[in-house]
Amino acid sequence: MSHTNCISTLLDLKDKNITFSKNCIQETQIKNVRSKLILGTLSFQPTHCYHCGHSFDSNIIKHGFKTSRIKLVKTSRIKLVKISGFDAYLDLKKQRYKCRHCDRTFTLETSLVNPNCFISTPVKQAIFLEASHKKSETDIARELNVSHSTVNRVIHSSYEEQPLPFNSLPKVLCFDEFKSVKSAEGAMSFIFCDASNGKLIDIVEDRRLSTLRTYFMRFSKAAREGVTHVVIDMYAPYMTLIKEVFPKAKIVLDKFHIVQLVSRALNKTRIRFMNQNKEFYNKFKHYWRLLLKAQEDLNATHYFYSNCFKKMISQQEIIDFLLALDPELKETYDFYQTVQQAIKLRNLEIFHHAIQHPSDLLSHEMKTALKTLTHYQDYVKNTIETPYTNGVLEGINNNIKVIKRIAFGYRSFYHFKARILIIHKYTFEQKKKRNQAV
Ligand SMILES: [Zn+2]
Repeated sequence: MSHTNCISTLLDLKDKNITFSKNCIQETQIKNVRSKLILGTLSFQPTHCYHCGHSFDSNIIKHGFKTSRIKLVKTSRIKLVKISGFDAYLDLKKQRYKCRHCDRTFTLETSLVNPNCFISTPVKQAIFLEASHKKSETDIARELNVSHSTVNRVIHSSYEEQPLPFNSLPKVLCFDEFKSVKSAEGAMSFIFCDASNGKLIDIVEDRRLSTLRTYFMRFSKAAREGVTHVVIDMYAPYMTLIKEVFPKAKIVLDKFHIVQLVSRALNKTRIRFMNQNKEFYNKFKHYWRLLLKAQEDLNATHYFYSNCFKKMISQQEIIDFLLALDPELKETYDFYQTVQQAIKLRNLEIFHHAIQHPSDLLSHEMKTALKTLTHYQDYVKNTIETPYTNGVLEGINNNIKVIKRIAFGYRSFYHFKARILIIHKYTFEQKKKRNQAV
């Protein structure tokens, strides 16, 4: 391997027109930092004049090297990826040519850097790769010896390269929202993904109906009509939206949110009851989790010492004791258990029976929840009949929180969004690769 070849391979330079002399690596202070400096020359015979396009002939001649107008040096300093922990630069002499056809001069170009740019392509690729991990941009900038605004710019440009396909949408969509950045239009931003594989499709700044309607109307009619199911939480504007923009889609309420509706009602009932009966306050406070636990998961055989009861007791006995205190609590508890069971076992009959024949003793909190369930019973039916959930989106939302935290918040929504999409795309593709390998 020749000398030039060794260095090119080491620096991962794709441009074979850059050559290196024998003593081309120096160690110097650049901006008061000990750095590695490599001297190289870019020279080759161009195929045509860069200005008039005339093909190369004897009237296009070498014309010295490109000179910086400010520093009057014949090299341009290009930032490279760090070498063994040191900042690294390439001082590149670029061959200049003069064209006698148009009487103008031009400097040779290289794939290593864009014209008028001093950050090499490998550095940009490194920025992009680092940006796809959960890492703050300040850290990326410091590690790669570039400014914060360079990191920003690279993230923006790489994100803008991928426009949304407005003529296709997945069959099943998941809708959700997350708490957005301060500068965003709405307090909550909207996020949606493909339910079949968890691929994040896009993020919309504002989840309000008018914004979302305009947004989805940009998709073609055929794409919108192809959507068969949309999984949502109980946010009424989504329902209006779906009826308007996805005429053929069925609304599926997310399982988790249905159970949450009834468990909150039960919890409120418990708290009210706890505050009214001070002598049982501790017992209700301490064992709130047991009340929310699915009935069949309660342990009836394992006895443990309870400080509240001052004796050995099992989980089942605690629940029996608490429920015996009040018939209203008992009925509310039973209703909660039935709904939870129906959703878990995907049994429509149990669900219908529960909401059509509720006990008069239900607490008023649970009656409110029941009203909601009755109102949305068609959507709950879809939940029970299909396997779709918003589970994948909850995972993405957790990631978003982490991204926000490591960056100490984001000022620009646009930038926040770009970063989320880049990180998601990366993790998504890694996951796909892993699945293929298995
Ligand atoms: Zn020319």
